[in-house]
Amino acid sequence: MPQSEFNIIEQYFTRQRVQRDDVKLGIGDDAAILSVPPHMQLCIAIDTLVSGIHFPTNTSAEDIGYKALAVNLSDMAAMGAEPAWFTLALSLPTTRHEWLAGFAKGLFTLAEEYHLQLIGGDTTQGPLTVSIQIAGYLPRDTALPRAGARPGDSIYVSGTLGDAALGLRCLQQVDKYTCDTHALNRLNRPSPRIKIGQAIRDIASACIDISDGLLADLGHILTASQMGARLHRNHIPLSETMKALCTEDEDHYAMVLAGGDDYELCFCVSPDKASELDTIAAEHGVGLTRIGQVESQPGLRLYDGEKICKVNYQPGFEHFTG
Ligand code: ADP
Ligand code: MG
Repeated sequence: MPQSEFNIIEQYFTRQRVQRDDVKLGIGDDAAILSVPPHMQLCIAIDTLVSGIHFPTNTSAEDIGYKALAVNLSDMAAMGAEPAWFTLALSLPTTRHEWLAGFAKGLFTLAEEYHLQLIGGDTTQGPLTVSIQIAGYLPRDTALPRAGARPGDSIYVSGTLGDAALGLRCLQQVDKYTCDTHALNRLNRPSPRIKIGQAIRDIASACIDISDGLLADLGHILTASQMGARLHRNHIPLSETMKALCTEDEDHYAMVLAGGDDYELCFCVSPDKASELDTIAAEHGVGLTRIGQVESQPGLRLYDGEKICKVNYQPGFEHFTG
């Protein structure tokens, strides 16, 4: 039976385990009220997932709920912020209980892991679209900007790249790839690198999260910093799955360099911080790998050993180009 907007909010979104002391007023009024300590700054981001564009239409409700929050958390990670609250604008074609229950489960699983409280939102009928706005704290003037990379800085990435793109190839039934649960999991359940973002806050000169592919997102750092870079494609960290399933052909590099949906961090740091980064990586159990170096000469030069290679890939997903 279809449910009213107010039933949906009451049944699926107001009952949460996380109740934060800094929420003075949450769901139920015209707006939420939050307390922010004087030495902190607010850090806010929003990301929308549209069915069929940001996830395949047959993605499970639970994965959609999880991913919608994860991609927002990834933006907080890229700033070095500590996430605290989020709002949810949900546009639904129908109101099926199974779908809503699954969506809420995926969403709150991740919310609880990071002690995040849902503080409001909007529920409308329309094509399936999930917008989440996330907000958190940053100690005053400590944010990790995009513009800050300096010549000679090492370029690092967290985790491994290309897995989510491989997951998407599996779903699209590209014949040469076997369907693999690790790759699918990386596509549907990204791991936001919140702890890494906070740990590198005092040492990184620039940072971004990789949502549109390494080349595109590193490109944003370089443009903002008015720098160039050399990148060693053989140094890019790959999962065991990626190594097992892919040969080093053009499509392999397209996934690793321009696949998107990685939600890993790419950051620049002075080379004398290498051992500090090793400690951070070990502490958090997340690989941090040096893949290149910032240079003052503009442009991105991709190397295969000593050989410079041509970059043939689309520079990341762009809306409004077709
Ligand atoms: P208004 O008409 O004043 O915008 P709404 O009827 O849209 O209020 O929402 C009622 C309350 O429920 C508000 O506090 C709003 O923030 C909250 N709310 C609406 N939709 C959601 C949702 N999907 N998730 C969480 N809170 C929601
Ligand atoms: Mg409203």
